[in-house]
Amino acid sequence: MAGLGGQPIVILKDGGRQESGKEAMSRNIMAARAVAKALRSTLGPKGMDKLMVDSIGNITITNDGVTILREMEVEHPAAKMVVEAAKAQNDEVGDGTTTVSILTGELLKGAEELIGDGVHPTMIVSGYRMAAEKAMEILKTMASKVSEKDRDLLEKISATAMTGKMAGKPDPKLIKYVVDMVLAVTDESDGKNVVDLDGVIVEKKSGESVDDTELIKGIIIDKSRVHSNMPKKVENAKIAILTASIESKDTETKAEINITSSDQFKMFATQEKERIKKVAEKVISSGANVIFCQKGIDELAQSYLAKEGIMAFRRIRKSDLKKLAKATGGNLITSLDELTPQDLGQAALVEEKKISGGKMTFVTGTKNEGMVSLLIRGGTPQIVDSLERALDDALHAVAAAIEDETLVAGGGSPEVELYLRLKEYASSLKGREQLAVDKFAEALEEIPKALAENAGFDSLDKLTEMRSKHEAGMKNYGLNAYTGEVVDMWEMGVVEPLRVKTQAIRSAADTANMILRIDNVLVAKRSEKPPGANAPMMGGMPGGMGGMPGMMGGMPPMM
Ligand code: ADP
Ligand code: MG
Repeated sequence: MAGLGGQPIVILKDGGRQESGKEAMSRNIMAARAVAKALRSTLGPKGMDKLMVDSIGNITITNDGVTILREMEVEHPAAKMVVEAAKAQNDEVGDGTTTVSILTGELLKGAEELIGDGVHPTMIVSGYRMAAEKAMEILKTMASKVSEKDRDLLEKISATAMTGKMAGKPDPKLIKYVVDMVLAVTDESDGKNVVDLDGVIVEKKSGESVDDTELIKGIIIDKSRVHSNMPKKVENAKIAILTASIESKDTETKAEINITSSDQFKMFATQEKERIKKVAEKVISSGANVIFCQKGIDELAQSYLAKEGIMAFRRIRKSDLKKLAKATGGNLITSLDELTPQDLGQAALVEEKKISGGKMTFVTGTKNEGMVSLLIRGGTPQIVDSLERALDDALHAVAAAIEDETLVAGGGSPEVELYLRLKEYASSLKGREQLAVDKFAEALEEIPKALAENAGFDSLDKLTEMRSKHEAGMKNYGLNAYTGEVVDMWEMGVVEPLRVKTQAIRSAADTANMILRIDNVLVAKRSEKPPGANAPMMGGMPGGMGGMPGMMGGMPPMM
């Protein structure tokens, strides 16, 4: 009703801001593009790294898209949408996060140009949607089959995903480990491969070298035994997996006891001893010779257990207990009264080992298969961290390939092919969507362009060369980022799961479209400003991105 009399409708509380129309759109695009620009130089095997320093001074050196975005603390809502798209890509396919961000940024750049020429955003959204659909179709025709038996090909996928995430070329041993691990947790269900990456445990300890990274069929627990008189090694382990503590109930609940004489004290102490002994005996009588306990183990109980030759661990994470139960065939026990010999898990060996100063425990030869662990080693914490990220990308890529059984060549080859085919498709269209499909094609070509730029080659030369190969029907030709030659990526062994590409294109299109449909930004007044936080969510600073504390190395200017 209000507003009919010429009064504006006030829908924001005092201090809120509102931007609408072109202004809102262009700020949104600017902010989202800034995120994409920040990542562009990290794409591909020759991509540069970012050095990031967080608010308490921790250092991360990486070129992993999603890691950079996590550390950037992006504030602008539209920029956040790009970050969310990259995170979703990471969660769903584990690789291709930089690609999603670059594509989203380029799609928005194209849209901005069209809007400048008077094309309505709705038209662009519809054109982008059509182009994305078409791209899916084309990609499917380009894909090849891979079976889980094709080790050679799986290792290539592993290597491609790891490439560029660590200094130099990926380590051949790590490439193999990734495939071993994924195959160890692959099962068939209804004729389809299902990979359960929860069965893969990755632990890291800095020290030694990458070459000392070890694959273990079993479980690594980052803990040492509770008592030095316990054995360091138990063969034919019968394992009790407890979420209950091994303590006297009374001390645990901290009941108040009034002691008035020394006799009373002695009596209490004896009773307490008896109680603890009884508790320990419950575990001993089950026949267990190894105990993993989520909670505490009383000191006295520890020495009883040690006397019996039992190896015990306390304060074990619940998630680790679950993994132990799964691998050893044991049951999680919530009350010691319920513990029976049938609940014990089995493993050929439980052994505590010294690992550069610290101690870790290895549970191997477990009753059930389907659980593997990797202990990552490397000179510094930064090295083991970056190896962990590289391995994570590779694990997911190989898993996606085994589940979907489809692959495409990499090195920019699918994007060049899509560019040409989408241009063709665009010319078959009438109406303004044609313009949007054209821009979509151009956005895709930014991927090979960035790969070439980052490797230090003339990107236009390389694009021309790639296009002419593709026009001559050589669909798998892409850029060898090490030599600058345009070669058959399939032969070079640069291959990626189809899912990485389809998901990246789909979510870049969806994210760009989402941003293009916003014509109004309403921002409530902030109730409280965290110290040092600058500027409101929009407007304020150039590019509208808040807080990228301490990011150095190739942060592009914000337009
Ligand atoms: P993302 O986060 O998108 O996976 P990356 O930095 O991992 O970004 O780069 C991925 C791109 O690098 C893909 O297009 C992939 O095909 C390409 N790539 C990987 N290895 C090579 C190589 N040896 N030569 C050329 N391109 C490569
Ligand atoms: Mg990658």
